[in-house]
Amino acid sequence: MLGQMMTAPLLISSLVAHAERYHGGTEIVSVNTSEGRETTSWGEVGRNARRLASALHGLGLKPQARCATIAWNNRRHLEIYFGTSGGGFVCHTINPRLFPEQLVYIINHAEDEVIFLDSTFVPLIAAIRDRLTTVKHIVLLEASVGDAATALPGIIAYDVLLADGDVAYDWPAFDEQTASSLCYTSGTTGNPKGVLFSHRSTVLHSMALNLKDAGAFSAMDIVLPVVPMFHVNAWGSPYACAMVGAQMVLPGPNLDGASLLDLIDQYNVSVALGVPTIWLGLLNELRTSGRTLKNLQKTIVGGSACPPSMIEAFREEFGVETIHAWGMTEMSPVGTVNQPLARHSDMPIEDQHRLRELQGRPVWGVEMKIVDEEGNALPEDGKATGELLVRGHYTLDAYLHMTEDETLEGGWFNTGDVASIDPDGYLSIKDRSKDIIKSGGEWISSVDLENIAIAHPGLADAAVIGVPHPKWDERPVLVAVKAAETDLSEDEILAIFEGKVAHWQVPDAVVFTDVLPRNATGKVLKRNLREDHRDLLQS
Ligand code: ADP
Repeated sequence: MLGQMMTAPLLISSLVAHAERYHGGTEIVSVNTSEGRETTSWGEVGRNARRLASALHGLGLKPQARCATIAWNNRRHLEIYFGTSGGGFVCHTINPRLFPEQLVYIINHAEDEVIFLDSTFVPLIAAIRDRLTTVKHIVLLEASVGDAATALPGIIAYDVLLADGDVAYDWPAFDEQTASSLCYTSGTTGNPKGVLFSHRSTVLHSMALNLKDAGAFSAMDIVLPVVPMFHVNAWGSPYACAMVGAQMVLPGPNLDGASLLDLIDQYNVSVALGVPTIWLGLLNELRTSGRTLKNLQKTIVGGSACPPSMIEAFREEFGVETIHAWGMTEMSPVGTVNQPLARHSDMPIEDQHRLRELQGRPVWGVEMKIVDEEGNALPEDGKATGELLVRGHYTLDAYLHMTEDETLEGGWFNTGDVASIDPDGYLSIKDRSKDIIKSGGEWISSVDLENIAIAHPGLADAAVIGVPHPKWDERPVLVAVKAAETDLSEDEILAIFEGKVAHWQVPDAVVFTDVLPRNATGKVLKRNLREDHRDLLQS
């Protein structure tokens, strides 16, 4: 017997339609690339999204046409998220920090027909335009095209395109499994791979992200996604915010500590989302300027391990809660979020703090397990460490133009991370499997050593890599960036680890550098560091 409840497909258009109808007056603040700050509303974003969808049909696009964006977090980008997907097209967000070769590869691989472009990135696309075989229309995210028409003949202005759109456009209904958006993984090895989200997976992910045990956005919140809209859809925050009518502050191109602090202060931001390096900049700015965070209640931090010292600094110095989360593009991206259980309030406060350093528990819709090298499930006792496998309602089934067999292992997706899981499901990420250090048959977590190093005031940044060693196979080496006006010696730095890890886990050497190499999503390029220092321990 079937249930007798109304059914409607779970579509992204329903999110923005809700925000437009019930939160139409809620402000959206946007730092636009050439026009400065602008305050608009969910009502205006909803109307413009409908105009855009109608204008895209007017350009002759067929359902499922891929529409790329190369843009900062701003109001027009938000409208494109909803206008493209809502209209039945696929929103393909592109990371502008990719190499030109990778950009050409993914635009052709995705068969993008439209590119929505911020003025910052006109030179980037002009340089590769003649190699983009499927692109028919380029739209500049400005009121008029100005000089861009010289570099990119035929480019049209977003506002001009929108003027052709019909504000009375009705969102179409279609199968909820239809593709809605597309992101490519950074591809530190090989070509980037496409992850094709569906309307259903996006709506379910938004509901999960809004649970109180996850991100818990609400109509009371003012949300600042510092994580770029080209990085796994700003972790899904625009969809989740539309679902509850949260106010948004979209920070545009300037993500330095001072610019972020100005926005947080002026617009009373209550929740901010970003990777740890962004928050290092903010903490530095707070300390040097002596300013405080009046309204900010919490930061959601993920993308790389959040150092415990950062969680402590936000808590003790500025009264802000850090919510550590883990996930990946292939999971939409949220996998685990660190929120406590009721019984934890009886634990000593230091133990509660230690628990919050972990990557957190799975949100609804995510299942996890750890396995050994033969694929056997390992105990979830908080000690056993193995490869982390996941599956769930918003985990991918197959990469774009690949099969399920090429993507999954027996119905599970191998995350490439090495982790332990405790009996309550709290995840502790030890490393990416390719970064873990294998020393004399034992594993050493580079993340653990980095967390200790970065907590020291004499170090501004740190990465630990495995370097080939004639006797031990590999040994840890610390690549360190000294903090301004400090000058620790190698011995002083190695002394930081004493008593904090087993003696054999202490790095063998320290190499100093001015800045760590990072990829397009802010992760340290350990492969490059390993290459640079491969002979360091050979003598
Ligand atoms: P990429 O395209 O570089 O894979 P993702 O954002 O999808 O970009 O990266 C996912 C990976 O980032 C995870 O597999 C994990 O290694 C790392 N990661 C994300 N969040 C955390 C975290 N909180 N702690 C440790 N590692 C994390």
